[in-house]
Amino acid sequence: MSDKMSDSVVRIFDTTLRDGEQSPGASMTVEQKLVIARQLEKLGVDVIEAGFAASSEGDFESIARISREVSRPRVLSLARSQEGDINRALKAVEQAKNPGIHIFIATSDIHLKHKLRMSRQEVLDAAVKAVAYAKKHIDYIEFSAEDASRSDPDFLIQVFKEVIRAGARTINVPDTTGYAIPSEFGALMSQLIERTAGADRVTWSAHCHNDLGLAVANSLAAVHNGARQIECTINGIGERAGNTSLEEVVMALRTRKNYLSLDTGIVTEQIYPTSRLVSQVTGIAIPINKPIVGDNAFAHEAGIHQDGVLKHRQTYEIMTPESIGIPGNRLVMGKHSGRHAFDERLKHLGFNLSKEDMNRAFLRFKELADKKKNVYDEDIEAIVAEEILRVPGQPDRYELLYLSVNSSSDGVPAATMKMRVGGEERMDHASGDGVVDACYKVIAKITGSQSQLVRYTVNAITGGADAQGGVSCLIEDDGIRVSGQGAHTDIIMASALAFINALNKLEGRKHYRRLVEREGP
Ligand SMILES: [Zn+2]
Repeated sequence: MSDKMSDSVVRIFDTTLRDGEQSPGASMTVEQKLVIARQLEKLGVDVIEAGFAASSEGDFESIARISREVSRPRVLSLARSQEGDINRALKAVEQAKNPGIHIFIATSDIHLKHKLRMSRQEVLDAAVKAVAYAKKHIDYIEFSAEDASRSDPDFLIQVFKEVIRAGARTINVPDTTGYAIPSEFGALMSQLIERTAGADRVTWSAHCHNDLGLAVANSLAAVHNGARQIECTINGIGERAGNTSLEEVVMALRTRKNYLSLDTGIVTEQIYPTSRLVSQVTGIAIPINKPIVGDNAFAHEAGIHQDGVLKHRQTYEIMTPESIGIPGNRLVMGKHSGRHAFDERLKHLGFNLSKEDMNRAFLRFKELADKKKNVYDEDIEAIVAEEILRVPGQPDRYELLYLSVNSSSDGVPAATMKMRVGGEERMDHASGDGVVDACYKVIAKITGSQSQLVRYTVNAITGGADAQGGVSCLIEDDGIRVSGQGAHTDIIMASALAFINALNKLEGRKHYRRLVEREGP
C-alpha cells in the first residue's frame, strides 16, 4: 500500500484489536482476533493496529499471527518511546507484508507532571531518540503525541518537527480524553499542519475518544482541516466511552461527499457483518438506536414516515440498508436447508471459517434446526460465537455435562450439575435466589471459582416462543475482567454456558499472566 494517497482519500486506521480491546470485558483470544482481522481486511481498512506487543504474551502472539495472515492492510504494533517496547513491536510485525510501528509519548503538561515525571526537553529527547532508533530497523513509523488536544500547540509543533526529521511518516493527534470540541479540534489540526516544518512530507491523523459524544464530529473536523487518516473502532468500542465509530465516520464521509469531497477505501457493504461479528465476539451489545448498525437505524415506525418511504425512499432515508450490507430479505433456514445453503449463509454473514470449523458449525446448526422451526441469521451468528470462536486452539478446562433445575412458586430454587473439570467429572448441587443464581452457585462450587459476577444480560436472539436465548455475562477475578457468551433454546442452559465460557477465558488470561510474570513481557 502506498501512503502517498490521493488528496481526496482518507485512510482508515482500525484499532478495534488494540484500543477497542481496552473496553472493560472485551478481551479476546488470539483466535478471535484473527477472525476479526480477516474480516477487517475484507472490509477494506488501510491499517490494522493489531495490539501492543510489549503489554502481554497474548498481544505479541496475536500481532505476529495477524502479520502472517493478513496481506493488504498495513499491520502495526503500538510501542512506548522505549527501546524495549520498540524491539518487541519490531519482532511482532517482522513477518507482515506491510509492517509498521506506532510510537507514542504524552505531551501535555498534566501528563508530564503526574504520569511521566519528565520535563518537556526530556520528552522531546525521548521521542526523537525512539523514532530514530526504530527508523534503523523499519521504514513505516507513526508517531502519536498522547493527550495532544490538551498540550501546548507550540510544544507539539516542536516535537512533530523533530520526529518528522527523525523519520516519522504519519503524525497522529489524539484527543485522548475526549475533551475537544469540533471547531477547536479542526483549528488545532489546521494550525499544526500550517506551522510544523516538514508537515507536507507526512500524513496527518486524528484519534478521538467519545467521552462527550464528539469523537465522530471531531474526526470529521480534522479531515475537513487537512488530516488524511482517521483512527477508529468497529461499533466505537474502546476505553471508557469508546473511540470514533468506524461505521459512523465512514458513512458520514460517503453520505456527505457532496459537502466534504472525501472518499475512503471501505467496502461499505461489509460494515454490517463486521459490526455483528465484533459484537458477538466481545459480547458488547449494539444499542438499538446506534447510528448505522443499531436495530432501529433503518426502521420507520411512525405512519407518516412509513407512508413517505413507501412512496419514495429518499423522503426519510439518507442511506439505504443495502449500502451497509443489511440483507434486504432476511433468509430463514430450517431443518431442510442443505450444507451448501448453510456455507453460503456463513460467508454472507462475514465468517471465514476453516473447513473443520464449518463442519462443526453445520452439525450444531442441524441440532438447532431439529429443536426450532426457523433458524435466523442471528441464530447462526450465535452458533459460530458459541462453537467456534471461543476455542483458543486447546480444549476448554471446564465443560458442562448435565444440568437439572428445580423451581416452583413455593419451593427454594435449586440446581444439580455435572461438569468435566480438566478431565475429571464432578457433580454437586446448590440452592439460590432463583434458578440462575442456583446454577451460578453450583458452578462456583464445582470449579472453586472466586470470581464476582459484574454484569448479566439476557436477550432473545430471535423472536417466537422457541427463540434461542443469548446470555452475556461479565465476571471479575483478581483484577481480570472477562465476558462470556452462551446461546441455547433454554435460557437457564444459556446462562450456565455463558458463565462456563467466561471461566474458560479467565483460565486463558491467568495462564498468560503467569507466563509474563515468569519470563517478563
Ligand atoms: Zn485511544
